Amino acid sequence: MQVLKFGGTSVGSPEAIQKVIEIVKEKISKEPVIVVVSAFGGITDALLDCGLQAARGQEQYKEQVNLITTRHLNAVKELIPIQQQSSMLSAVKKLCNEVEDLCNGIFLLGEMTARTRDKLVSYGELISSQVINNAFLAKGILTTWWDSRKLIRTNSDFGRATLDTEATVENFSEVMKELATDLVIMPGFIASDSNGITTTLGRGGSDYTAAIAAAAIGATSLEIWTDVSGMMTADPRWVPNAKVIPTISYQEAMELSHFGAKVIYPPTIQPVMNKSIPVWIKNTFAPSDAGTLIQQDSHRNGTPVRGISSISNLALLSLEGSGMVGVPGFSRRLFEALSSQQINVILITQGSSEHSICVGVDTLTADKAKLAVDKAFAPEINLQQVDPLVVEKELSIVALVGEQMKSHPGISGKMFGALGRNGVNVRAIAQGSSERNISAVIATRDVRKAINLLHEEFFETVNKQVNLFISGVGNVGSKLLAQLAQQQQYLLQHMRLQLRVVGLANSKRTLINEEGIDLNKWKELLAAAPESTIETFTDGIIQRNLRNSVFVDITASEVVASVYGKLLDKSIAVVACNKIACSSPFKYYRELKDKAHDFNTQFLFETNVGAGLPIIGTLNDLLRSGDRINRMEAVLSGTLNFVFNHYDGSRPFADVVRQAQEEGYTEPDPRLDLSGTDVMRKIMILAREAGETLEMDAIHNNSFLPASCMEGTVEDFYKEMLRLEDHFRSIYDAAAAKGCKLKFVASFKEGKAAVGLQEIPAGHDLSNLFGKDNIVLFYTDRYPQQPLVIKGAGAGADVTASGVFADILRATLN
Ligand code: ADP
Ligand code: ASP
Ligand code: MG
Repeated sequence: MQVLKFGGTSVGSPEAIQKVIEIVKEKISKEPVIVVVSAFGGITDALLDCGLQAARGQEQYKEQVNLITTRHLNAVKELIPIQQQSSMLSAVKKLCNEVEDLCNGIFLLGEMTARTRDKLVSYGELISSQVINNAFLAKGILTTWWDSRKLIRTNSDFGRATLDTEATVENFSEVMKELATDLVIMPGFIASDSNGITTTLGRGGSDYTAAIAAAAIGATSLEIWTDVSGMMTADPRWVPNAKVIPTISYQEAMELSHFGAKVIYPPTIQPVMNKSIPVWIKNTFAPSDAGTLIQQDSHRNGTPVRGISSISNLALLSLEGSGMVGVPGFSRRLFEALSSQQINVILITQGSSEHSICVGVDTLTADKAKLAVDKAFAPEINLQQVDPLVVEKELSIVALVGEQMKSHPGISGKMFGALGRNGVNVRAIAQGSSERNISAVIATRDVRKAINLLHEEFFETVNKQVNLFISGVGNVGSKLLAQLAQQQQYLLQHMRLQLRVVGLANSKRTLINEEGIDLNKWKELLAAAPESTIETFTDGIIQRNLRNSVFVDITASEVVASVYGKLLDKSIAVVACNKIACSSPFKYYRELKDKAHDFNTQFLFETNVGAGLPIIGTLNDLLRSGDRINRMEAVLSGTLNFVFNHYDGSRPFADVVRQAQEEGYTEPDPRLDLSGTDVMRKIMILAREAGETLEMDAIHNNSFLPASCMEGTVEDFYKEMLRLEDHFRSIYDAAAAKGCKLKFVASFKEGKAAVGLQEIPAGHDLSNLFGKDNIVLFYTDRYPQQPLVIKGAGAGADVTASGVFADILRATLN
């Protein structure tokens, strides 16, 4: 004989019940079957709601009872032919009247005891099982309806009663003797105590009813029919990529369900495990899907972690104090205080210093726990040997479960590494000595992110999802978006990276789409997006709390540069094309680098110097591998290079500068380039990366630009340059007369940096530069005479965007 259980959704509508009938019909053609059913989906909650409203004196409970009645009557009308309906309709009506009477009583008393609550909710399963029983009869299938209250005996702990196995097994053996049909229908969830008073087995308890029945009759198998195609690697409502687990051991299934996998009610496994009855989890709406087999051994299937689950509403209770060290009996007293209040302990950790014990309990019981524990330790608290119990709420547990974890080192390292990199703070850790479970207590707001990233880490060899938030959609920004759009498929295929732009902002508007913005339409979408500020944008990034988040700054804005700190604080990586942060006072630069380090994330700004050229990356590689930077010589301004490569006196200097601006090489205000300020910033950033505490005012600037050029607007600047054409001409002529070219050179040596125009003879390392080329010469311990040279285009939207792209990848592959 087999036992089949159908859950709330499986019997949630007449159409679903038709599917159930089809499934059962097929089964009974082979073997007799017991069918355990839940209440119609949502009815248990609705009944509880009626009771609560009545107890609060709210008369709306009557409307709710009417809705419950109508739903059941409609089911009868749809499932049973008209000629046979009337007796069932009146039976349902009668039961619903009892519900109303009960609620009237609760309303009059103004309270609902646990015993009354059990009585009230029992109607859900009582009615559903009778309606379904009649639906089978109407199809000509003979059935027996068993009243679970007469079979399953429990103690009187209403709400979640404990099974009396012996009495129950005996009751089943009695009814089995008289069974005359191939099909039995019985309500799940409900039972009774030794006085015949209705009890329930706890929310979700119909699974347990089925397991109790299966064990009592020695069933060949138990099948739990639900709305998903098996037990999955994580809750599919939270992790869209969750996969069905084909086989799993009893122990693993028990562990996963204890830690929140709602698909099976935790006590369900025990009775069937004791009798080695195999359990299948099957989908009523996709019966041909294989489902999950729960049995003695789970087969190895490549991954040592079988599943991930979570429990919310956890409170951590910490008992601490110097008076606890080495004194026996403290833990006993703590647990006694908790059990005296029937408080269930979900998790325990104790440091080996013995000076603190930490337990996790349901938040609902936390206040009661505090009162009880503080009372139990009142003498020690008075003597200040023990601190009053500390209670922290809004916590959750995430747990990795798998039998094979014990033979695979490094799993917890991987787990905590992934959590740490994403700024998920771990408040407590517990690992059972069976090593079947590693659990971490984290803030409830981090649960979704944590489960998804752990799932990614342990199950998704396929994709790592990266969520980009980009500020700035000018020249470089638009190029970056085009490059991302072009590469998305490649990255998915070759690097298993799912790179998505979730947020996009310009100075006025912010576009957000958690599923990823369509990069072929970003312009229209952004134009229609709501107005917002950088603060709302960054607050939104933090609140969304998505895993592997990267903020990309492609603006030249000071306000945008001021938000990096609060993002890094949340372990959100920052990729900056914007030079302002790194060239602001050393203290701020250092603070950001330290934050990135402390919060296990990345702060990258390769494009601050030489656009896409790998200058900062190379410098860091040299240092990390133990080399030392002794001297740097560099031409770092694409603009100045362009200008001095094109200026030969045949047309005014001002015209050449204007061409550089028009071709997009200059900063928005070209004076930043012409005055040398931009180059000063760049050599400062390089010197800082090389370990110097350098500030702007310590850099010597031998400027060729007369001070008068710096006054007024950009247009005034062009006029003034035109007026001073002779000055520029004479600089050029002097160099040309010596056969030299003009280069604006930045140098760094012995802790000192300087920038200025130099006459460079032919054949010099810095001489052969064309267009907007940049060059850096690193003289190091390992490259003492012949420097390490990096040279190439040092400006332009395309190369800068590709540098930003490379930083994004670096930030995500850490
Ligand atoms: P039923 O009413 O059939 O008893 P439940 O709602 O109690 O169904 O349980 C099924 C639900 O459990 C699924 O719809 C799914 O959302 C949720 N669930 C949570 N964790 C898991 C998991 N690891 N595997 C499958 N389902 C899960
Ligand atoms: N109907 C009960 C509940 O919703 C029992 C069950 O469905 O398993 O909790
Ligand atoms: Mg359930």
